Amino acid sequence: MVAVSQLAASFDLTIADTPQPGRLTLMRGDRIIVLTANEGLVSVAGQLVALPSPPLERDGEWYVPIDFIGSAVALVHDEPVELRRRSGLVLLGAVRVPQIVARYQRSGRQSRLRLMVTPATEYVIEQDANRLVITLDADALDLELRDVRPDPLVSGIQGVDGSPALAIDLRENFGSFAATTEPALGGAVEIVIDLQPRPAEVTRAGPPRTPSPGSGPGPNATPGAVAVAGETGADAGLPVLSELAPRRAIRAIAIDAGHGGDDIGTRGPEGSLEKDVTLAVAQRLRNRIESELGLRVVLTRTGDSTVSLDERAAIANNDRADLFISLHANASVRETATGAEVFYLSLAEYGDEARDAGFTGQLVPTVGGGTRVLDIVPWEMAQLRHADQSARWAETVADELSLRVPMSPRGLQQAPFRVLVGANMPAVVLEMGFISNPDQEAQLTSTTFQSSIVSGLLRSIIRYRDEIASEGTPVAPRDAVPPDATGRSR
Ligand SMILES: [Zn+2]
Repeated sequence: MVAVSQLAASFDLTIADTPQPGRLTLMRGDRIIVLTANEGLVSVAGQLVALPSPPLERDGEWYVPIDFIGSAVALVHDEPVELRRRSGLVLLGAVRVPQIVARYQRSGRQSRLRLMVTPATEYVIEQDANRLVITLDADALDLELRDVRPDPLVSGIQGVDGSPALAIDLRENFGSFAATTEPALGGAVEIVIDLQPRPAEVTRAGPPRTPSPGSGPGPNATPGAVAVAGETGADAGLPVLSELAPRRAIRAIAIDAGHGGDDIGTRGPEGSLEKDVTLAVAQRLRNRIESELGLRVVLTRTGDSTVSLDERAAIANNDRADLFISLHANASVRETATGAEVFYLSLAEYGDEARDAGFTGQLVPTVGGGTRVLDIVPWEMAQLRHADQSARWAETVADELSLRVPMSPRGLQQAPFRVLVGANMPAVVLEMGFISNPDQEAQLTSTTFQSSIVSGLLRSIIRYRDEIASEGTPVAPRDAVPPDATGRSR
């Protein structure tokens, strides 16, 4: 709560004499706010505005919840007034203070800074001796730094005092950078800055580009630059291990559009069908994976057809996918239920069943080709041995989505989904949102929301792939195509 007398002084409000007890009138020009003690609805310039809690009168002083600034004062002010609770800011006047969530990741030899900027704001990146300075076209920054840890390329990242800029302090190993921009949900934009070590220490670092003007929001902003693989080449001297060894390279992604054909899934209040939403997102995701990552995509259905749950896992196994994602839309009797949820297999539910099945159970229907070692695993065991990687893949998906779309309070969960059981690779189910919620139904069928989901998934694939590639010795299956001269996994 904040004292009304303080707000009056800061926001140029006049407190009128109050003839009636339990009532307070504030004025700004001819616009009037009337507060009633213990009444959560406030009259503001002829409109009723709800406060999270009612005003209090105590010893002649009135107190209102801090939200009063954004919801009531803003309506009587000539200049824009914006309250940002999270960052403890009140913006008064036409000031441009974009919110920036900055995250820094290191995978393999490459470091990556990602800035989620709301609203989308133009920027310029300049290299100034041993710093990269990202200056936004703004009056100030509302900056949140997450997961920023020093590494061999970067000694620190911080805001620049007195300037709407962010500085990356570089170490001697730093060689070059490349920046890309991608639109995100809610008028935001994501700037991704990839940092590479010096060319002397790596065979394929790009030429330095200094300065690099930010291209602002736009899907054509060199998407390929983020797709440089951290994957190392196949070593002919390495023994070929059985498929039981964890895979160290991500080459193919299975996308499962939930439901289809006779099985419509859930239906939204406006009549949208889950099976249509899942197929639309699956197709968008396939297009972007193929065009931007150059990975192979396996779809469990390409049209409105009925496919059983075990068949879906079998398709992914047969086509030797390295990751599996099953797309769904949620439904709840609670109309307000909202947000995305990511699931991986609950071991508690399937562990016993799998153990009971022993090795006499149904076989994973993989297809052996050429000299490949056949992978004989009971169906119920297929997913269990990928449990750790599935949890990690699910976490990555939830993390990337949380930057782009609303998440349910339980954004990451374990559940006994049948479709996951037979998948012989790290696998997750994504409930993209609640189609039973009218707002979310509109989102789920919109291009913007679908693109945000796809961007999040794309980024999660890149991140997971790069992490896997940077760990341990890469294992090259015999039928692997060696990387081309550029080192890209295309
Ligand atoms: Zn579903």
